[in-house]
Amino acid sequence: MTHLFDLSGRTALVTGSARGIGYALAEGLAAAGASVVLNGTRADTVAESVGKLASAGYQAQGRAFDVTDEAAVADAFARWDRNGVPIDIVVNNAGIQLRKPLVDLELSDWQRVIDTNLTSAFIVAKQAARRMIARGTGGKIINIGSLTSEAGRATVGAYTAAKGGIKMLTRAMSAEWAASNIQANAIGPGYILTDMNKPLIENAAFDAWVKSSNPSQRWGTPDELVGTAVYDGRARRFRRSFDCAPLGRQAAAGAGESVSPAQAASWQELAHGRDIHSRQGRMAISLPCRRQGRQHHRLSATRPSGQDCSPALLREIDRLEWRARHSGH
Ligand code: NDP
Repeated sequence: MTHLFDLSGRTALVTGSARGIGYALAEGLAAAGASVVLNGTRADTVAESVGKLASAGYQAQGRAFDVTDEAAVADAFARWDRNGVPIDIVVNNAGIQLRKPLVDLELSDWQRVIDTNLTSAFIVAKQAARRMIARGTGGKIINIGSLTSEAGRATVGAYTAAKGGIKMLTRAMSAEWAASNIQANAIGPGYILTDMNKPLIENAAFDAWVKSSNPSQRWGTPDELVGTAVYDGRARRFRRSFDCAPLGRQAAAGAGESVSPAQAASWQELAHGRDIHSRQGRMAISLPCRRQGRQHHRLSATRPSGQDCSPALLREIDRLEWRARHSGH
């Protein structure tokens, strides 16, 4: 994986990822270096999929909950808070389909489809974005839309309305959260070979229509969506200034001074309790601070000259710089 698309150090929650597109996206994000959190409604299938990723050498954990249940979603995020699992990337993928003419569709069915495909994205992203904003880290929201975000299709009215809503919800998220360094994007797949489409795949007439009506003349596969998800999951980096100097000098206290315990403590607090000093050996990050009543320092990082900063350290720098820029210093 090239540095440009390296997701090392990031944690990605993919909803509805025990199977289908969600599983493929989780696997792809994990292959790009992310630690992934799988989700679905069934604990057994979530655990099974976590096991598959873990046995392939990826960092994976899972939690089963219904994405339409606001209390259950809040509880999951609170649990990740307690366990020190910061969600940096959310893929709102969970979805259902229900094929019925609009004139025969019960309101309860309409609501179930809207809740699962649209409202859930709001519920999950809200919990994630609150934390991304509070941490000052920014993050990524990736909503799974559909070709029905753009085109009407008969017998899938509620789904079409939900996916059209996903397109505009994504724009609303971008408008509201971009200033907090949260980038929201949507992916709109065409017809993909998954369980959701089983009845269509087995319907010879529909299968022939899919193959004749799209330029590739075939169904898509979940893995074909991975590249876009990794691209969308890669956070934009902010400018960094590096300062090659011996560790212990020119850190939080400024050039020529050692880092005091108090400064180190506040630094670690800002770094979310991570001891970058010991984890990174000779690397250090300095924070902006006020001296003599005025802004004194820009953020900088020290590192042994001639060595690259690790992706984890670069990521901490992104976080701290973003916080520094928006903290009034
Ligand atoms: P699948 O039916 O294969 O998988 C759906 C996943 O969503 C399952 O893991 C399921 O979990 C989960 N899920 C459903 N409801 C909930 C819920 N309330 N809470 C948590 N998880 C839930 O679908 P696909 O992989 O095909 O679809 C994934 C996404 O891609 C959906 O948003 C879909 O609309 C979209 N999409 C799909 C296309 C396609 O052609 N397949 C085309 C365009 C968009 P569980 O197994 O536990 O039920």
